[in-house]
Amino acid sequence: MSKLYIPGPINVSKETFAAMSHPMIGHRGSEFEELYASTQPILQQLAATTRPAYLSTSSAWGVMEASLRNLCAKKVLTLCCGAFSDKWFDVALKLGLAAEKIQVEWGEAIAPEAVRAKLAQGGFDLVTLIHNETSTGVMNDLAGIAAVVKEFPGVLLVVDSVSSFSAVPIAMDALGIDVLLAGVQKALALPPGMAVFFCSAAALERAKSVPNRGYYFDFIEFAKNAENNNTPSTPAISLIFGLQHILGTIAAEGLEQRFARHAATNAMIHDWGARHGFPHFAPAANRSVTLTCFKKPEAFDQAAFIKNLKAKHGYIINGGYGKIKGLTFRISNMGNETAATMQELIAAMDDVLG
Ligand SMILES: *Cc1c(COP(=O)(O)O)cnc(C)c1O
Repeated sequence: MSKLYIPGPINVSKETFAAMSHPMIGHRGSEFEELYASTQPILQQLAATTRPAYLSTSSAWGVMEASLRNLCAKKVLTLCCGAFSDKWFDVALKLGLAAEKIQVEWGEAIAPEAVRAKLAQGGFDLVTLIHNETSTGVMNDLAGIAAVVKEFPGVLLVVDSVSSFSAVPIAMDALGIDVLLAGVQKALALPPGMAVFFCSAAALERAKSVPNRGYYFDFIEFAKNAENNNTPSTPAISLIFGLQHILGTIAAEGLEQRFARHAATNAMIHDWGARHGFPHFAPAANRSVTLTCFKKPEAFDQAAFIKNLKAKHGYIINGGYGKIKGLTFRISNMGNETAATMQELIAAMDDVLG
């Protein structure tokens, strides 16, 4: 048996799988409506919002693409600092949208002042930001960038919190975020196949005015159905039972405790890296707390390390993503990991390093 410490999908607990094996129910009935409604309070607390949470049967990219389709009437500015954020720009072009980007080197964070300078050029009505760029381990300054976007009336902000949602506080309403989205297979520790998202009133207003939004990812359809605790089309019902279970564990642990646990387990990996002389890929001020991305030292046989860790101990870490594959390695502390389980990984990594 092996165990994932890659930054998504991550290890899913036996208890979550057990919750997902609930007998199937129809989705146009009161039992489903109660299930849906039960997910709302904790999801809203995690996003610090009064807006309803929508459940999309898709991976995160479904909602990432949908945000462009529903909300861009003029021109989108994509903030690019790694594999996922760079791809968002390409997706905008594939949709035929007018798009510009701010591009920084992988491993760097987006500077709020750069966003201000670009938006001041005018013509934009949408900004996309990846809060935690999973490919590089960079956590962007969400509050700083959101404050800048709010200086420009009529510009909406979409935030991908795929690998940060539920691990750090995110104040959607206070920051004025217009769409907040997350895939469930990262920090929420569910199997892949669903995304959770929220839309501001301004986002729904904009969507109403945008033609050709399609059907499956139409935000207005999600909003209408959510009023009755339902989804536009048949959802991944088993995943929603899993979500209900996970949210129960989050409530039982307490949000503050959950945030503190992620900070503590992340610090354990930072300490381990420091002990072995592995440099960080991300700058000190912008490091993710849900994963750590290390730079491969010149003489270090990273491939052998990863291979032997799996062969000897069954733990799987990641050897870099996109154009930094083989040059970096990443270790996740998302989801249900505790100081004890991270210590098991650390002991195994120490053993392999000899
Ligand atoms: C994994 C990831 C995605 C892509 O999610 P899918 O579920 O594969 O669609 C997008 N953004 C970030 C930050 C991610 O970590």
